[in-house]
Amino acid sequence: DISHNVILYLDDITVSFDGFKALNRLSLAIDAGELRCIIGPNGAGKTTMMDVITGKTRPDKGSAFFGQTIDLTRLSEPEIAHAGIGRKFQKPTIFEQHSAFENLELAMKTDKRVRRSLVATLDDADRDRIAGTLRLIRLDQDADRPAGLLSHGQKQWLEIGMLLMQEPKLLLLDEPVAGMTDDETMRTAELFVSLAGTHSLVVVEHDMAFVEKLGGRVTVLHEGSVLAEGDLAAVQNDQRVIEVYLGR
Ligand code: ADP
Repeated sequence: DISHNVILYLDDITVSFDGFKALNRLSLAIDAGELRCIIGPNGAGKTTMMDVITGKTRPDKGSAFFGQTIDLTRLSEPEIAHAGIGRKFQKPTIFEQHSAFENLELAMKTDKRVRRSLVATLDDADRDRIAGTLRLIRLDQDADRPAGLLSHGQKQWLEIGMLLMQEPKLLLLDEPVAGMTDDETMRTAELFVSLAGTHSLVVVEHDMAFVEKLGGRVTVLHEGSVLAEGDLAAVQNDQRVIEVYLGR
C-alpha cells in the first residue's frame, strides 16, 4: 500500500549488468511536491536509478510506480515522458541558432500531449506562458538572443524551461549545476525551491553547497541501495556515510 501523497515509489529494485548489481534491492519513495537530492560516490547506481524511472533500463526485479497507478516498468520511454516525468541530462540540447523564446516555443509545439502545427502562430495565452517561463528561468532579458550566445548556466536554465513547457509533474535532474558559476548555482537552487510544491524534483548532485541550499531530504546511494536518508546534516554525520566517502 502506497501512501496517497507519494508520487514516485521504487520498491526492491534490482538491476544487473552481466551479474553485477548496479541496483541492489533499492527502495525509495518521493512525496508529491518534494525536492529530493540523491548523492553517493561514483558507481553507486544514481544514473541507473534515473534510467529505471524513465524506462531506459528495465529492472530485473522490483516495482516502480508513478502516482498510485502508473506502473513504470510496463511503459516505454515516450509513454513515461507523456505521463509527466521530465528528465534533464547534463548536456543541454537546445537549438543554438534560435532565440530562447523560440526554443520554448518549439518545446511547446512539440509537446506530444497536444497536436499542433510547428508553423501555427502563437495566441496571447501561448505568448504569456512562454513569457512566464522566461521570467522563471531568468531569461526574460535575453529572450531574443540566439541561445548559442547564452552563458553555460543560462543554457541549462533554458533547457529546464523547455522541459517545463511540457508541464511535467516530476522532474529528474542529473548534476544540473555542473560547470556553473557560484552565482548561477545559487540562482538554480532558488529556481528549484520555487518549483517544489507544484512539481516534484529528484536531483542527482555532487555539489554539497548546492544540496545544502536546496534544503530538502537527501538520499545517499551506495552499491545500488540506500545507505542513509534524512536532511543533509544528518546524513553527513552518519558514520556509514563518512566511511563510504572517506574509504573511496
Ligand atoms: P552512478 O551514476 O552513481 O555513478 P551508475 O548507475 O552509472 O552509477 O553505475 C552503477 C554501476 O553499474 C557502475 O559500477 C557501472 O559501471 C555499472 N553499469 C552502469 N551501466 C552499465 C551498463 N550498461 N553495463 C554494465 N555496467 C553498467
